[in-house]
Amino acid sequence: MPLSKPPLADTLDRRMPAAHRSALAGVLIPEAALRRRIALMGRAIARDYAGKEVLVIPLLSGAVLFLADLLRRLPFPLRVDFLGVSSYGQGTESGDLVFNKDLQLDVRGAHVLVIDDILDTGKTLRAVTGKLLAMKPASLRTCVLLDKVGRRVGSFEADYVGFRIPNLFVVGYGMDFAARYRNLPYVGVLKPEVYAPKPARRSAA
Ligand code: 5GP
Ligand code: MG
Repeated sequence: MPLSKPPLADTLDRRMPAAHRSALAGVLIPEAALRRRIALMGRAIARDYAGKEVLVIPLLSGAVLFLADLLRRLPFPLRVDFLGVSSYGQGTESGDLVFNKDLQLDVRGAHVLVIDDILDTGKTLRAVTGKLLAMKPASLRTCVLLDKVGRRVGSFEADYVGFRIPNLFVVGYGMDFAARYRNLPYVGVLKPEVYAPKPARRSAA
């Protein structure tokens, strides 16, 4: 599906609630743009799955707000089953992948649509799609809100992409840093000093 115009770091909107100003450099994708784009994604997905029942598999936890808004745009029969996957890395870098919540429903023979917040290096979705394909679904597609194309290690493309974004660490709209900021209604960019604090100056004494 055609991509929306990529939002650029230098067009960050710095108008945000005072409570967020100390942690955020700005808003990368405002609520209205998320709403508009997700409505279009819903239409494209609905067209592709006409006449089929879909098993939607969102990845915990970053995809939850995206899922909540996208689901309301999918006007066909579907079931939802969450898969828990975490990447244990240092700070904002991804590390080893751990599956921490298994599926309850049977994937075999189902039309599976995996939903995630961000496609970054591609490690998560490559592992998840590998695991699901081994369960013999009837079809398997992936849908992400954000795609950091420049960060990919090896090749992986999602079937549905909301926005292509530059290599910035984003939070909000379900996405966290150290389990915080998921509640922001927009996608924001964290100030680097929040995730990479400057080392304390040594005193000369
Ligand atoms: P990948 O395995 O593709 O490198 O990383 C995918 C996962 O890393 C995403 O599902 C997301 O949880 C996390 N991630 C990647 N980039 C960011 C980011 O900018 N902000 C946040 N909060 N999480 C990110
Ligand atoms: Mg994730």
